[in-house]
Amino acid sequence: MDVDAASYSEHMKRRYDEIAARVERACERSGRSLSDVQVMAVSKTVGVDEVLAAMRVGYRLFGENRPQELVRKLDGLAQVEDVPGDVRFDMIGNLQTNKINIVLGRATCIHSVSSLHLAEAISSRVERRLEAGMLDAPQPVLLEVNVSGEESKSGFSPEEVRASLESLRQLRGITITGLMTMAPRGDKDRVRATFVGLRELRDELEHDQGDLHLPELSCGMSEDFEIAIEEGSTLVRLGRVVFNPLFELE
Ligand SMILES: *Cc1c(COP(=O)(O)O)cnc(C)c1O
Repeated sequence: MDVDAASYSEHMKRRYDEIAARVERACERSGRSLSDVQVMAVSKTVGVDEVLAAMRVGYRLFGENRPQELVRKLDGLAQVEDVPGDVRFDMIGNLQTNKINIVLGRATCIHSVSSLHLAEAISSRVERRLEAGMLDAPQPVLLEVNVSGEESKSGFSPEEVRASLESLRQLRGITITGLMTMAPRGDKDRVRATFVGLRELRDELEHDQGDLHLPELSCGMSEDFEIAIEEGSTLVRLGRVVFNPLFELE
């Protein structure tokens, strides 16, 4: 390993410890158990070497936002001998229907199911694979909800989720395990309100459906993960704070 790689790894190890400490404090503040929060390293802007460095300091869960990049990372890791068996990659970005087949069998969970149409398209492709014995379980997915209502954001509106839920639950190729959102940038009150909105929507859907469990709340990124944890996030998706030495934690 050259000097640069060594110092990058050292930086990453310090960051890993700092993130873990902050996650722990956020859990303490909100009376939550540390084991209820998972940290995802979003590796979309880095290469296989950086993913390996992250793995070696302790990250196990990775997120990618483009199907081809997910494949590239997995193919890269397949060339390496000491990859732990519990390393997992999720799909967190906008997914076009013509790219679904690329992620099936590769992404453990798809966080970005943003419409009924996409859910149906994923489900039908999974069902075909289940019948052919190419997959052995429905695809775990999260419903991406545009809680903040910003026009630039994709996802179901809360109203659309309520209206589509019965149809979504009929889809045999997917298992809906929770909800995902992205907060607006900047204003901390709006950020918090977005995470609260996600949790309350989840509580409402579970209450209305009775037999529906949506344990997973995927929310919180580099700038707002501590607020997200305080408001119930079970999975924070961290990119820059993990991989970019120039990113400064507040
Ligand atoms: C890039 C990305 C992240 C991570 O963002 P950072 O601000 O770098 O932590 C999280 N979620 C999604 C969907 C992303 O595309």
